[in-house]
Amino acid sequence: MSTSDQNAAPGTAPVRVVVIEDELTITRAIADRLTAEGWEVTTASDGPSGVRAVTEVRPDVVVLDVMLPGFDGLEVCRRIQADEPVPVLMLTARDDETDMLVGLGVGADDYMTKPFSMRELVARLKALLRRMRRAGAPAPSESEKQDALQFGDLVIDRAGRRVMRAGAPAHLTPTEFDLLLCLANAPGTVLTREQLLADVWDWVDATGTRTVDSHVKALRRKLGSDLVRTVHGVGYALEIPEDPEDAAGAATAPSSRTSPSDLSSMATPNLPAAAS
Ligand code: CA
Repeated sequence: MSTSDQNAAPGTAPVRVVVIEDELTITRAIADRLTAEGWEVTTASDGPSGVRAVTEVRPDVVVLDVMLPGFDGLEVCRRIQADEPVPVLMLTARDDETDMLVGLGVGADDYMTKPFSMRELVARLKALLRRMRRAGAPAPSESEKQDALQFGDLVIDRAGRRVMRAGAPAHLTPTEFDLLLCLANAPGTVLTREQLLADVWDWVDATGTRTVDSHVKALRRKLGSDLVRTVHGVGYALEIPEDPEDAAGAATAPSSRTSPSDLSSMATPNLPAAAS
């Protein structure tokens, strides 16, 4: 593990990043590039030292390779996310590996397939940091702070960034929450992968769409397969679930409001659990 903290812009805290990668040429290339951005870079070359580095440094963002000595990137991701959420960009060897990882619920926020350009890596990391800052910012209006969105048996507490389906809380990653909220802001409307990449991932010129597909799969796994509809060749739309207590509500009120204190009363114990 080594740290380089030169070039930090005066007066602002530098971005802290931990890079966990066992291929030294890649590690060096990433570290050089991010150091040139003024970031404080800590590197580790195996699973256990990667987890230690994250625990010690408390980074703003983590770049994590999948195949690592010791234990792999999946295990690293689980361990570092168990403590408190930290944005993770995972480096994969193949596109289908991304699908597999999201399917396993690893909880990374973005994925890049090797080989990748340093320019794209920096752009994606900056986008990730912008999103995290936005997510941490207070809700724009007092009413948004107070209100939750409700669609049938789905309740989205925007301020608390919590989601309930059929009375059961769902544990979403920050990215999964942002994706759900983006879809929920236009329920029933088909959003293209490019729109979602721009709005949720903040990618300005998006090329890869695997990240969107993978995160949609994760939402379905956690909230029920009926929630997000695929429109082949176009994109995705949020399907408004039926409210078992008020079937008419699903058709009439796409964004009826509920105060967070009502969240607990949303429980509908007769329903089978949505996540299975
Ligand atoms: Ca590797």
